[in-house]
Amino acid sequence: MDQQQARIVIVGAGQAGARAAEALRAAGHRATISLVGEEDHPPYERPQLSKACLIERDANPTFIRSGEGWRELGVDLLTSSRVVGADAGKRVIGLTNGQELTFDLLLLATGTRVRRLPELDNGPLPVRYLRDINDALTLRAQLRPGRRIALIGGGVVGLEVASAAAGRGCSVTIIEKAAGLLPQIGSASLDRYLRYLHASRGAEIICGASVKQTTSQGLELDDGRFVSAELALVGIGVEPVTELAHQLGLEGERGIRVTPTGATTADGIFAAGDVAEQWSRTHDRWMRVENWANAQNQAIATAKSMAGIGTAYEAPSWFWSDQYDANIQVVGNPAGGEELVRGDIAAGRFVTVSVRDGEVTGGIAVNSTRDMAVLRRLVASRKLVRKSDLENPAFELKRLLAA
Ligand code: NAP
Repeated sequence: MDQQQARIVIVGAGQAGARAAEALRAAGHRATISLVGEEDHPPYERPQLSKACLIERDANPTFIRSGEGWRELGVDLLTSSRVVGADAGKRVIGLTNGQELTFDLLLLATGTRVRRLPELDNGPLPVRYLRDINDALTLRAQLRPGRRIALIGGGVVGLEVASAAAGRGCSVTIIEKAAGLLPQIGSASLDRYLRYLHASRGAEIICGASVKQTTSQGLELDDGRFVSAELALVGIGVEPVTELAHQLGLEGERGIRVTPTGATTADGIFAAGDVAEQWSRTHDRWMRVENWANAQNQAIATAKSMAGIGTAYEAPSWFWSDQYDANIQVVGNPAGGEELVRGDIAAGRFVTVSVRDGEVTGGIAVNSTRDMAVLRRLVASRKLVRKSDLENPAFELKRLLAA
């Protein structure tokens, strides 16, 4: 079959689904494209939800296109639509409203949902989560000066909301189960910096403790401590939305495994974005890559493959986080090798470079955007580097690219 004529259904109208739909049209795909999403908004960018949307009084997320924009592109956008059934053999999916969509090619961009702490539901303390526009707007209204906010989880959501809340005059406590902040990055230097950054803005940081239960006055921790709070925001990670994949016969609890072209093990079924489990060279394992750059670029590469232009996606993972006036960027796996620090952690301007067998596996750039551009190229290119160069503060990182 001519792939340009294939009827395509994309399930999931987040960043990945939306960018894939655009990329299909850009690649010349002519037949129908249906983009199905559960939310009642057209697809939008999520990074601002834990940043500008909370900090600025009226900031709203950026919509990737308006409803009219999707019509102009010839994409059938179905919002407020949940997929409840699927048949891989008949190549059909069914929606809650009874509508059926037949497909030749299917893209699963179902993303993730927040991990919850059900034991805190319906307790005496208000508990919130942050995943979509409605969550962000509700939370923004609650970040009033003088309020005591507890952040459960010292990952990106916890730290970005802590920064927004402190900026709006709230008093903030961060409670992280692991021994340090952003533990998934595995960098002692970054943990040290983040503790300093948040503490210097008045946040209390508690690591190595979990919440046992809430009271109307705050949270009791498992080590006996008590955190006074009027509101708790839970940011303890996400889980892949894989029910539809399972109905289609795809296996996997931790995500939907894909090749570098986004193909799953089922003929004509692809996966992209947060839900797609990819092989990571820098981490030496299969993993889901939960960030904006992956949702955008892995989805575009997958869409090109669906349009018949086989395109392998092999970029190392990269994300940024804005906290207070600091910009923090992470590429690859900073825990994948020996971590060398360049710059001054206490001064809030530094870079880490992790080296394994002469290759850069990952790095972190704090307030050093230009160095991150170099680090990304170094991780992607697998160029061999010398530790002695990296240990020399006078040696410019960019010289490594020329070598
Ligand atoms: P996350 O980055 O995975 O961090 C969750 C943190 O919560 C981890 O440090 C985790 O520690 C900790 N944790 C787990 N259970 C806990 C508990 N019971 N008590 C206290 N801490 C606990 O997830 P997230 O911050 O919730 O973010 C959710 C998603 O949004 C992710 O996909 C993220 O990439 C995305 N996001 C990205 C950005 C950005 O790129 N700037 C910003 C906002 C959101 P362990 O690892 O030890 O379990």
